[in-house]
Amino acid sequence: MILRRFTQHVNEQNWFAVGLDFIVVVFGIFFGLQVQQMYDQRGERHAEQAYLSRLHTEVIQSLGFNKTTFGALLLLENFRENELYLDDVLAVFEGQGAVSDLTPRHCLEIQLAAIYNDQQTYLPTLSELLTSGQLSIIESEDIKTALSEYTLAFSALKQQIDQFLVSRVQLFEKYPQFVVYDRKMRDVSRVEEINHQCDFEAMKEHVIFNNDLTIAASKRHYFNLVLANQQDSLLKVHSVLDKVLGISHPETSR
Ligand SMILES: [Zn+2]
Repeated sequence: MILRRFTQHVNEQNWFAVGLDFIVVVFGIFFGLQVQQMYDQRGERHAEQAYLSRLHTEVIQSLGFNKTTFGALLLLENFRENELYLDDVLAVFEGQGAVSDLTPRHCLEIQLAAIYNDQQTYLPTLSELLTSGQLSIIESEDIKTALSEYTLAFSALKQQIDQFLVSRVQLFEKYPQFVVYDRKMRDVSRVEEINHQCDFEAMKEHVIFNNDLTIAASKRHYFNLVLANQQDSLLKVHSVLDKVLGISHPETSR
C-alpha cells in the first residue's frame, strides 16, 4: 500500500509527499530494528541469568563434593594434615624425637601419602559456554575474570595430578614388609578407628624408604599449594556469582 501511494506521489511529482513517505519507511525500519534488538537483549539477559544460576549451583556442588562423596578424605584440610604427619615421621627419622612417639595414625598417613584429589570436575556449564562460543553472553567483567582464573587453577591442578600419578609410589605396595594392616579397615576416612601397625624402626634404617617418603612429602606439599589455589578460585567464583545474583547464605559460604 505504501508502495502504491509512493508511486502515485512520484507520478504526481508531489516531492513533499515523496519525502514524507520516505521518512515514514526509514523510521518504520529503524523502530522495527530497535524493538528486535530490545527483544534480543532481553533474551540474552534471560539466558545469562539461567547460566549464572546454573554455575552457582555447580560451584556449590563442587565445593561440597568431597565432603559428601568421600567422607571428607579428599578435603584440602586433610591433605594438609597428612603433610604434618609425614613431617613428624621424617623428623623422627632425622633424629628429632623418639620412634616410640609415632602412632598408628602416622602409619595410616604414610599409607595415604600418595593419594591425590583427582575427582574434581571442570564446571559443566562453563564447558558448555566455552564450546558453544556463548561466553560473551556474560556481561560482568568480575565473573569473566573469576572464571578465567578458575580455568587456569583447574588446569594447573589437573596437570600436576596427572604428572604425580604417572610416577606415583604407593609406599606400602613397594614396602609391604613394614606394615600390618588393620583387618577391620574399610573406610580410611575414619582415621581414628584404624589401627595399622608399622615397623618404624626398620623404616628409619631403610635409606631408599626414607628417600621415597621424602619425595612423597614434597609432592604432598606442592599438591596442597595447587589444590588450595584451585579451591580459592572456586570460592572467588562463588562470591562474585553471589554478588551478581544477589544471593546471600553466610552459613554455607564454603
Ligand atoms: Zn552462593
